[in-house]
Amino acid sequence: MTRITGRNFLFVPGPTNVPDRVQRAMMVAMEDHRSSKFPDLSMSVLNDLKKVFKTEDGQVFIFPSSGTGAWEAALTNTLSPGDKVLASSFGQFSHLWIDMALRLGFDVEVQEVEWGEGVPLERTEEALRADSKHEIKAVLACHNETATGVSSDIGGLRKAMDAAGHPALLCVDAVSSLASIDFRMDEWRIDLAVSGSQKGLMLPAGLGILAVSPKALEAMKTAESKRCYFDLADMIAANASGYFPFTPALPMLYGLRESLDIIFEEGLEDVFLRHNYLAEGVRAAVTEGWKLSLCAKNPEWYSDTVSAVMLPDGANGAHVIDVAFRRYNLALGAGLSKVAGKLFRIGHLGDLNELMLMGAICGAEMAMLDVGVDVKSGSGAAAASNYWRSHDPFPKRKASKEEQFYEAHSTGSVQG
Ligand SMILES: *Cc1c(COP(=O)(O)O)cnc(C)c1O
Repeated sequence: MTRITGRNFLFVPGPTNVPDRVQRAMMVAMEDHRSSKFPDLSMSVLNDLKKVFKTEDGQVFIFPSSGTGAWEAALTNTLSPGDKVLASSFGQFSHLWIDMALRLGFDVEVQEVEWGEGVPLERTEEALRADSKHEIKAVLACHNETATGVSSDIGGLRKAMDAAGHPALLCVDAVSSLASIDFRMDEWRIDLAVSGSQKGLMLPAGLGILAVSPKALEAMKTAESKRCYFDLADMIAANASGYFPFTPALPMLYGLRESLDIIFEEGLEDVFLRHNYLAEGVRAAVTEGWKLSLCAKNPEWYSDTVSAVMLPDGANGAHVIDVAFRRYNLALGAGLSKVAGKLFRIGHLGDLNELMLMGAICGAEMAMLDVGVDVKSGSGAAAASNYWRSHDPFPKRKASKEEQFYEAHSTGSVQG
């Protein structure tokens, strides 16, 4: 039976909910992408994306691809076949990036890490120190491993690289962290930052987004990997006057303009605070309400954009997800590869608030009860409610004049 009334509750960690404003902004007639007006749009989104990456020195590129295309652009533009790269593997996405690097002909030194943990800072520093000839040309790191709900400390990784005195490029997958978890390209001296449109940027899939440091642009001059569609040299030449070397995805660019406006209206820092606050409520539902555990091994790894919920032995995550979808019109994320069937994931990134997440929490709980998982009815919602009702999402924000006025008058009725 397919439900035809009510909204589908989309809580996979990408694609995320597209705000109505963004959907409307994308409903445009096609236009000439070589017109004299087009650069207004392209220049404005390219410049404003730099604010989201927190880079002044870097250059941003947009490809009509998904995030995976931006991975390929990052690697082929800066490395030569046979180049050594260092990468850690702790989930499906960090694994897939390594797989791509191998298929592109690089020599990958893989650090296997238990799923549920993140980039191993000490082991990375050791491996870099051991590489006294500086044969490692790049370090690949997945900022937010979407398969396990694990966030890594990229600022810490930069410190580890500095401590080892190693000049490798720092390449970071920010697909499920950009515009939802704090990301500081210049401060952390990230050389290649990869992202996509369908997660924190609240758009459909279809844009691969890449931010490149001056050091990485320099590396491009000697990088011998074959590249054509993803060659940044063609992009740089065309982007200089606001054009693209091929047909850009026009409605997506209009959508991106609108989503950037929404992000700046809320304030980028408040976007991060909201994601943390919403994530804390979900984590309260999982651990305090349902008494289940997260795949992320301890709080330092907790992701503010996705929670992977471990099921007790004997329960099948695929079954929970299927019941949630067919019976309650709720889409949850599946366990991928090694953790298939062992968990389900709740995406909590993008255009969300408390009550939308209450739908996901209640629906996941109902589906778990339906398939016989031993959780207490109503416990997830109660724990999330307790968390959200007792916390201020924007603790550091100064109260506005109106709020100060109402606070000052809140004990008695306001008299005119
Ligand atoms: C979604 C995701 C990707 C893949 O992006 P596509 O847009 O599907 O190509 C890569 N890395 C991470 C961490 C992701 O969450």
